[in-house]
Amino acid sequence: MYIDADLHIHGLHSGAVSEKMKVPVIAEQAGIKGLDVIATGDILNPGWRRHVSENTETTSRGFYRRGETEFILSTEVEDKNRVHHLIFLPSMESAENLQKELEDFSKNIKKEGRPRITLSGEDIAENTKKVGGIIGPSHAFTPWTSIYKEHDSLDECYGSMSSEIDFIELGLSADTEMADKIKELNEISFLSNSDAHSPWPDKIGREFNRFQVEKKSFEEFRKALKREKGRKISLNVGFNPLEGKYHCTACQNCHQKYSFEQAINFRWECDICGRSIKKGVKDRVKELSDGGKNPEWRPRYLHLVPLAEIIKEVVGHSSTKTKTVQKIYGDFQSEFNSEINILIDEDIENLSEVNKKVGSAVRKFREGKTIMIPGGGGSYGELVIPRDEQDRKRILEERESDIGCFYSKEQKSLSDF
Ligand SMILES: [Zn+2]
Ligand SMILES: [Zn+2]
Ligand SMILES: [Zn+2]
Repeated sequence: MYIDADLHIHGLHSGAVSEKMKVPVIAEQAGIKGLDVIATGDILNPGWRRHVSENTETTSRGFYRRGETEFILSTEVEDKNRVHHLIFLPSMESAENLQKELEDFSKNIKKEGRPRITLSGEDIAENTKKVGGIIGPSHAFTPWTSIYKEHDSLDECYGSMSSEIDFIELGLSADTEMADKIKELNEISFLSNSDAHSPWPDKIGREFNRFQVEKKSFEEFRKALKREKGRKISLNVGFNPLEGKYHCTACQNCHQKYSFEQAINFRWECDICGRSIKKGVKDRVKELSDGGKNPEWRPRYLHLVPLAEIIKEVVGHSSTKTKTVQKIYGDFQSEFNSEINILIDEDIENLSEVNKKVGSAVRKFREGKTIMIPGGGGSYGELVIPRDEQDRKRILEERESDIGCFYSKEQKSLSDF
């Protein structure tokens, strides 16, 4: 059977997370997105553990059920080098045990959703394995809190435990094509997850994984990561990496983009505002590339744009949360059974019956005629839907440096036209 799963989100105890991130809402939104399984996040936090227990039914398969949605117990932790790790656990008991193992090394494990642990990646991996858990690095290439911002290899981070690492999470700014350029990753499974901090449909499930397993269970999930007995990840779905917040090298304050060479020449200080330039995932992957290639078993990576974002662009609003965007999204949702179906398979004629402009935008997206202006320095990429071919050419020309991630002093601004 196939299971679509988003395996990294946060509950309301984590920093900068929406108050709405509670189990009933998460379960409902996951259902709307067409997900079968979603991670609980934050499960080392005793308050969140209680909340999950009170709002789900225990199954004998290591998953926790609410309605049609099943939860896998998960947490993210930050190690002593500020590297983030994603952990999955088979039961509440093992989550409690891991909390006990780690609490002497953490000041905030009982308050925070994503605790800071003053241990190395190696020690955290060892403790996770001791309680029967699964572990890998979160958003592996981002410039603030990832394994490859700090280390040059899995060995450097996980030491003697590196052969026991179960996966790496690609993060929104990278995809399979990029990560497989690094040889040491050619053997390891990739996860594509949303890291959602709010329950809106452009956040939950904006990245997910399709698993091929015998049934929904923790042990099947473990086997799939190891590709045992036909179990596997059969598809990764997620952002075009250009859309991620850290794809290009760019200023963390004003988001001006720089090529790698330019950033070095400017000594990582923004020419415009003087604040620091953050190395983008694109350039970090290039630095680490050592002739790796996609292995034959690697599943396809399907690039999707959240439907809410297409609608936002069509109606010309600045946020996906406006009433108009939500209303049109709701119209599509009630007519068709899943967002993937809308974006990939459904007849354009049928989509146009619900909303003509959105139907036409989805057609352009499918035909590769939309433009993604890459993100960088903490600012998401931007989807642009050109009116026609001429408009497309004009945009490509006008925003050449923005699209190519480099700094051009003669760069024209919109007011020049
Ligand atoms: Zn993280
Ligand atoms: Zn996270
Ligand atoms: Zn700047």
